[in-house]
Amino acid sequence: MSVDEGEHMKHFSRLVWGVYYLRTRFPGMSVTSWGRSPAHNKSLPGAVADSQHLEWTALDVVWDPGTMPELGTLEAAARTMGLKVIRNAHAAPGERDHDHLELGDTHV
Ligand SMILES: [Zn+2]
Repeated sequence: MSVDEGEHMKHFSRLVWGVYYLRTRFPGMSVTSWGRSPAHNKSLPGAVADSQHLEWTALDVVWDPGTMPELGTLEAAARTMGLKVIRNAHAAPGERDHDHLELGDTHV
C-alpha cells in the first residue's frame, strides 16, 4: 500500500464517518446520490463541472417529511465532522428538496 492510498483511505473514512454521525443526529436523512461518472454528472441539471461527486467525496441527502433540520443546525453538526453543507445545491424543477454534503477544508 502506498502512502497515497493511506491518505485516500483517511479522506474517505472522514466522509463516511461524518455522514454516519449526521445520520445518528438526524434519523430522517437518506442518501440519494454519491459518486458520479463525468458523463452522468454532466447530464444532471445544476451539476457543477468540478463537483466533488466526481471525486466521490460528496453526496446528496433527502429528508423524511418534517425532519429537515434548520440549515444552521445541520451546518454546525457537519462542521464538527469536517463536512460542508450546500442546501438545494442541484435544485431543478420537480426535484425533491435535498442537501449536498461534501468534505470541507476543516480537518478534524
Ligand atoms: Zn450534490
